[in-house]
Amino acid sequence: MCGIVGYIGHRQASDVLINGLSKLEYRGYDSVGLSLFRENTILTEKTKGRIADMVKKVDFTNYKTSHVGIGHTRWATHGEPSDINSHPHGSARISLVHNGIIENYAAIKERMIRKGYTFESETDTEAVAKLLDYYYVQKGRSYSSHSQSA
Ligand code: GLU
Repeated sequence: MCGIVGYIGHRQASDVLINGLSKLEYRGYDSVGLSLFRENTILTEKTKGRIADMVKKVDFTNYKTSHVGIGHTRWATHGEPSDINSHPHGSARISLVHNGIIENYAAIKERMIRKGYTFESETDTEAVAKLLDYYYVQKGRSYSSHSQSA
């Protein structure tokens, strides 16, 4: 089993996410990761192994000013437990964590490759992260064409 924690608020997001993920450790997992949003940038840290391994590896003092984030403990179904297959997945604009299986991920992945996206992991999750990025960009284009014509 795996776990997901999300936070938006006044507290330091990295603390809340790490504490929240720690409470879900009993469910079992093979890797861990989180994304923090700060000053229009998404910072992602992830690793195969335990939450304590990530905390040892990453100096979260530089992340103190982030108050928005998502965290994940993974139980691999698509792709071995590894740093790259760990969640979150995404792009500079989108960060996604997911529990379970995306049954039609191969068709989505093929479609996204045809649109020019490249993939780094073996996960089903990354296909949906790229799909969301694609629609996010399309939506942005349609907003800007509306505002130009207005
Ligand atoms: N299917 C996803 C993966 O293998 C999510 C697994 C999970 O539920 O943690 O990365």
